[in-house]
Amino acid sequence: MHIYVHIPFCARKCPYCGFYSVAHCNEAAGYFKALDKEILEQPVICSAEAEGDVETVYFGGGTPSFVDASYVCNAFRKIRHLFSLEEGEFTIEVNPNSFDADKARKYREAGFNRISIGVQSLHDDVLQTLGRLHDRQEALDAIECAKSAGFTNISCDLILGVPGQREEDLYEDAQILIDAGAKHISMYSLMIEEGTVFEQRYGDRLDEYVDPDLERRMYHGLRSFLESRGLIPYEISNCAFPGYESRHNLSYWQGREYYAFGAGAHGYLNSERFAHPEDIGEYIKDPMKRITEEVLTEEDKRKEKCMLALRTSAGICRESAKQYDAIISKNMELGYLEECNTGFRLTSKGLDFANQVFMDFV
Ligand code: SF4
Repeated sequence: MHIYVHIPFCARKCPYCGFYSVAHCNEAAGYFKALDKEILEQPVICSAEAEGDVETVYFGGGTPSFVDASYVCNAFRKIRHLFSLEEGEFTIEVNPNSFDADKARKYREAGFNRISIGVQSLHDDVLQTLGRLHDRQEALDAIECAKSAGFTNISCDLILGVPGQREEDLYEDAQILIDAGAKHISMYSLMIEEGTVFEQRYGDRLDEYVDPDLERRMYHGLRSFLESRGLIPYEISNCAFPGYESRHNLSYWQGREYYAFGAGAHGYLNSERFAHPEDIGEYIKDPMKRITEEVLTEEDKRKEKCMLALRTSAGICRESAKQYDAIISKNMELGYLEECNTGFRLTSKGLDFANQVFMDFV
């Protein structure tokens, strides 16, 4: 089992961001009170559904580091106590502009053992285009703060395909992050999300600002660069030194069930995919309210497992693939899938057509 906790507060809304968050933390006190209530009541509701021990906890957002550290640490301590957590992977997301040595120390003391830093870029012009509040130096300082507090499992995000970004910027950023101590790098292509400032600015014309061939070169180039430095591309968007793969994210790709606490959080329990309303006020009034998005049949689960497994470099095992011979053959003929030791996985070409392959399983 796994736990995701959503902290929907940010210092400012980034113009490209489609995640649920608000640009203030006025309601933090009420929010964390409601979160406590949900955490305390949820295990009782779910005890019949839970199938095993909790292995990972992930505080994401939003920006968990934007609110007072005591809120987050108390909520995490509550979870640890209730679920009797000793060992596991316990991650907190932070942003460089709202993170310092004091917060890093408090997070470590509370028991977080993995930190994910929203670096995005180490080039100030790219950071400005992205509307980020930090600069290169603050991003590097954040890594130092994490290290000095004792974090060794450090992940950094990088965005590629940003208007004005150069291919060599990415490799330079990646090398600096590795030298600084990052053990895991998540690489995301800039996407235009609905309802964002970037949607107004670029609409569906992002390719007029970023050559799609360049964006693909950046993606494949960065994967290869990271691999040449020892970080294995273990998933479409994630590379890590061996032993530093995100256990929490791997659980999603293995189709495992997870609790989700907080406004806007999406969970998967007892075959049901559910979400909490994206409304902090509503969450404070009723933190137990959740909306069923989908109840998966056994066949849905099998298909979804294949689709998710194909995101990983291990791919889909032969046993699972047996039932989908036609889909596998078709995508092998197209050059999107190839055989590997364990079964079948996306080819380098297939990485560019991954969504198309996944759609065949829907
Ligand atoms: S800090 Fe992260 S979650 Fe918050 S608005 Fe920016 S991208 Fe979105």
